[in-house]
Amino acid sequence: MMLTGKTQLLGVIGNPVTHSLSPVMHNAALAELGADYVYVAFPVAAPELEIAIPGLLVLGIQGFNITIPHKQAILPLLADISPAAQAIGAVNTVWRTEQGWAGTNTDVAGFIAPLKSLRDWSGATALVLGNGGAARAVVAGCGQLGFAQIQVVGRNAQKLAEFQASWLASSLHLPLVSLGWDALLTLLPTADLIVNTTPLGMHPTVDRSPLTAAHLALAPAEAVVYDLIYTPRPTQLLAQAAQRGLATLDGLEMLVQQGAAALEIWLHQAAPVATMRQALVDWLAR
Ligand code: NAP
Repeated sequence: MMLTGKTQLLGVIGNPVTHSLSPVMHNAALAELGADYVYVAFPVAAPELEIAIPGLLVLGIQGFNITIPHKQAILPLLADISPAAQAIGAVNTVWRTEQGWAGTNTDVAGFIAPLKSLRDWSGATALVLGNGGAARAVVAGCGQLGFAQIQVVGRNAQKLAEFQASWLASSLHLPLVSLGWDALLTLLPTADLIVNTTPLGMHPTVDRSPLTAAHLALAPAEAVVYDLIYTPRPTQLLAQAAQRGLATLDGLEMLVQQGAAALEIWLHQAAPVATMRQALVDWLAR
């Protein structure tokens, strides 16, 4: 694609942002669609966020993703925020409106996309490991899928209490309990879906897993184990789960689908999901 004076800009802001896989995935999609757009990474330091956001509007940027550390800090700088992003407390996708920037969180759509085709989850029980930023999208996603119970385990009692309180105050009214890590032994035998939202198993802890083989032995034979980590493939957790005969999902599809959902918001057309997935697989296999 030739870049001309008419080429439109999309991008991602974060700090650091040079490692982001979004430019790889989105530029492959834009080329496939023949769209006259380019997607670039903008490093923005936290103190500069307030000037960067109106600056991007003035420069005519069509939309952008937000990654660490700005996913929460951007909220007061937006003209409109979707109810899901408000409940999660984080925005990862922004687009232009006449009033200014509008934002939502496509991590929820990304998380639920590979689950939707597996079974009907209404009435099921989800067990979520960790209570950080990604866990918030996971909890909202489990709510959308109709889980009857969403059980979150974490290691820090104070953060866990704040996590629970934030959902009680939200408009989503989810069937959520937040418990200490030692509750795992009681919760695993009834878990239909087990989601790892901790970074355990990702570089530099690729040889670690949030669950032991003994933990996994407690899970029902039909349980699905979902690790949000997308590299390495498989993680230690998913290798152990597969060995135990459990169904597994890794984080690559969530990454692809949150990107596809963002692209559809920006371009108002279906995203070439297979091209986006292949671009990431090729890039990660380099
Ligand atoms: P985060 O906000 O830092 O949250 C991490 C959570 O894991 C926190 O609750 C943290 O507990 C907990 N944790 C960390 N180390 C632990 C350990 N050794 N034992 C038990 N708990 C531990 O990070 P995040 O943004 O949620 O990201 C989490 C993971 O999800 C990362 O691996 C990220 O790559 C992945 N992710 C994937 C996608 C995707 O599209 N596939 C999207 C988002 C995130 P403390 O608060 O006590 O430290």
